[in-house]
Amino acid sequence: MNETLEKIRCLIIGSGPAGFTAAIYAARADLKPVIYEGLEPGGQLTITTDVDNFPGYPEGVKGPEMMEDLRKQAKRFGTEVRSGIVTKVDFSNRPFKVEADDGKTILAETVIIATGASAKWLGLESEITFRGMGVSACATCDGFFFRGQDVAIVGGGDTAAEEATYLARLCRKVYLIHRRDALRASKAMQHKILSLPNIELLWNSIPEEILGDSSGVNGLLVKNIHTGEIRKLDITGFFVAIGHAPNSEIFRGQLKMNEAGYIETVPGSTRTSVDGVFACGDVQDHYYRQAITAAGTGCMAAIEAERFIGS
Ligand code: NAP
Repeated sequence: MNETLEKIRCLIIGSGPAGFTAAIYAARADLKPVIYEGLEPGGQLTITTDVDNFPGYPEGVKGPEMMEDLRKQAKRFGTEVRSGIVTKVDFSNRPFKVEADDGKTILAETVIIATGASAKWLGLESEITFRGMGVSACATCDGFFFRGQDVAIVGGGDTAAEEATYLARLCRKVYLIHRRDALRASKAMQHKILSLPNIELLWNSIPEEILGDSSGVNGLLVKNIHTGEIRKLDITGFFVAIGHAPNSEIFRGQLKMNEAGYIETVPGSTRTSVDGVFACGDVQDHYYRQAITAAGTGCMAAIEAERFIGS
């Protein structure tokens, strides 16, 4: 529909630290950026509590608060922030044609993809049955509901360690279930976990089945993968913290990606396989995945978009 066809110099998809940093730089470069916030406005930091490793906050900052500040900063320089999601992209011709769920069809000179990544699930049937009824992929969002109760969390990385620590403050007992005999989490996080008396580590173990009834989760069967022994845990909350998958589905077939779906960028830049399309943050980074690196690549993407338009 022509009446909703809109020309934009710089379209940013996604509103985590990468998207908003790109917006700040693009707005200051007069690219008049429009940002679509996506399904999770503010990105993954909005479902976390304390951010203690972002430079410039000596006392730390709450994730949601930091994202609100970034949003305000992007708006201060004229970024148009739209709630809603991009539903379709066509990168075969420039300007790029993009459709959004607000009914708009956009012609964008440059596109910056900052769609991030989302939590992975184990794939158990019972995980689906009890999702939202005791099963969660975000301890910092849902831990509150399990105050004083016994819970389990699966995973061995920094997320699992951080969330187990968080849960240990709220819950009576936390079982941390890991499929190997060593954690992947940083040494600092490992020390923290081992110092907390109400965290019990279950090594070489995997969840077999989440038990429950119409009122929610009431147990978990855990299998030791070496001995085959099954142990029943009396828990009411089950948290999954086994990593993330990139939110890149709508770009499949249009941009080069690796086998896990992370968008490939030219090393040392945010350029994708299509000139004029840039990718920043977790959607193109399976390695660092930090707010600060996402923000750094967001800055790079905006500078590259500006130079691309000027070239
Ligand atoms: P991750 O480092 O990829 O760790 C995922 C964990 O889940 C691994 O221990 C893995 O086991 C386990 N796992 C994966 N699939 C599984 C399955 N199907 N069943 C059972 N276990 C499974 O993911 P993450 O912990 O989300 O961290 C991602 C990145 O963010 C990392 O770079 C991390 O350092 C960073 N991060 C940093 C902070 C911080 O600095 N404050 C906080 C959170 C995350 P294996 O070990 O056997 O592979």
